[in-house]
Amino acid sequence: MWLAHRRGRRGAVRLSTHIPQRTCVGCRRVRGRPELLRFAIGSDGQVTLDIHNQLPGRGAYLCADGTDCLAQARRRRALNRSLRVGAEVIDYEALSATLGTLRQEVQTSPR
Ligand SMILES: [Zn+2]
Repeated sequence: MWLAHRRGRRGAVRLSTHIPQRTCVGCRRVRGRPELLRFAIGSDGQVTLDIHNQLPGRGAYLCADGTDCLAQARRRRALNRSLRVGAEVIDYEALSATLGTLRQEVQTSPR
């Protein structure tokens, strides 16, 4: 966790909060790490949602609640660039489906 904090020093450090800030590759908004979802290269070489923040290597972030962020990232090939991979390892349909499932779970779980 703290390692990740130190690695990603992309602005927003002025905020006197200990929450790491990340930039959504879709809408480019800078948000607190908990508000974003991490995507990384899975063991099968495909880009996957890193729900438990366990996958090593590069990560790309998308707003957890941003319904259009994945589409925006797709249009700009932002995930490809952030993760430095080719388009063939990103299955946007699958990612989109995963995101949809995840959001439903978040909505139904009490806060
Ligand atoms: Zn976003």
